[in-house]
Amino acid sequence: MFDTTIAGSLPKPGWLAETDKLWPKWVPEGAALARAKLDATLMWIKLQEEAGLTVIGDGEMSRQHFVHGFVERVAGIDFEHKVEMGIRADRYKAMVPQVVAPLALHGRVHETEARFLREHTNRRIKFTLPGPMTIVDTVADRHYGDRVALAFAFAELLNQEARALEADGVDIIQFDEPAFNVYMSEAADWGVRALERAAQGLACTTAVHICYGYGIQANVDWKKTLGEQWRQYEQVFPALAKSSIRQVSLECYHSHVPPELMALLEGKDVMVGVIDVASDVVETPEQVAETIEGALRFVPERRLIACTNCGLAPMRREVAEAKLRALGLGAGLAGARRGA
Ligand code: ZN
Repeated sequence: MFDTTIAGSLPKPGWLAETDKLWPKWVPEGAALARAKLDATLMWIKLQEEAGLTVIGDGEMSRQHFVHGFVERVAGIDFEHKVEMGIRADRYKAMVPQVVAPLALHGRVHETEARFLREHTNRRIKFTLPGPMTIVDTVADRHYGDRVALAFAFAELLNQEARALEADGVDIIQFDEPAFNVYMSEAADWGVRALERAAQGLACTTAVHICYGYGIQANVDWKKTLGEQWRQYEQVFPALAKSSIRQVSLECYHSHVPPELMALLEGKDVMVGVIDVASDVVETPEQVAETIEGALRFVPERRLIACTNCGLAPMRREVAEAKLRALGLGAGLAGARRGA
């Protein structure tokens, strides 16, 4: 009854990349690396299917990081001379590439893995791209001198790739915008507009993932400063409700997000985070079903999609596998109870 899907990333196996890291180094090189990326993709496709998920992703096995996987293919960016920059309002420092010239996209970014995903599952497939505002917050601008202009320049290129992904047979294109939870008024002001530019003209389902980040220490510490109630979504959800984007994700289980904020997404499909990515404790199917049932007070049954709170990339593989199974079983349990 309920669709089930992951936010996007899954842990890379040790034969592909360093484990337990957000920016892992690849293990093989050259042709062996290209092969290993697809082998890992196939492994996760099958594990998602076995877990009973209804919408399958590539687990982002072919990119080192969810933002730079796209950005490293864009002309006008200097990856040779990275600089340290505070990102997400200085929550952490990262070595980021620099925008040094007008941006352009020559050719495809994710054609290989999108077509591979399409070939290896009969279920609906979702593909993730970073959102324009989050990209702007993860590169150093030395050329445009204006965050909005830079965001729209990226949005045009994202749109180019998104249209091609749709032609590859992708059913759902999701843009990841964790920056929306950091720059809330800017997100409502121009972030959503830039996102719509990235999704312009798509006939497939469009989605946006907004979260409080991976379960890394900097994010755990940041969440402790956000108080009893996390109301960041309250500022951007009304703008998203009016937008052309069809699905919106939010963190739910173990978060301090007031559940009634989901009601601000009237008319949208809501991807409810029922799996905590900041804890290795595996949810029981009962807990997942309870989270779904709680969300149903604010989201109509036909519009609820059970999802993970965020990507599972930095987790241990065994834990991620168990969490996928909990997601599938819990959604099945909630569905069976509704049907009963
Ligand atoms: Zn996330």
